[in-house]
Amino acid sequence: MPMPPHEIICYAPGCGKPAVFKIAARWSDGVTRELKTYSLSCADCRDVLFDQAMAKKGTCRLTTGETLSEPEVFDLVRGRRDHDLMGGPKPNQPG
Ligand SMILES: [Zn+2]
Repeated sequence: MPMPPHEIICYAPGCGKPAVFKIAARWSDGVTRELKTYSLSCADCRDVLFDQAMAKKGTCRLTTGETLSEPEVFDLVRGRRDHDLMGGPKPNQPG
């Protein structure tokens, strides 16, 4: 089975599986908002990489006015852009 040309590989050392999750936190300086990506992970490594993201978050220095949310897990499989993901996981809605 041929691999897609833009296959993204899990960040965990030695894993090598396709990434299906993005672990990122929402960063803002009050004007600009963006996602700060910590890791891309496969399903197996998600918890490990999420823990690492939490640890990194604790060491991240923010200047006055900057805010950084807790790391969240985003769906990478659907190829949605960061801006589509800014709202985070959405509850199931009818229709
Ligand atoms: Zn992995």
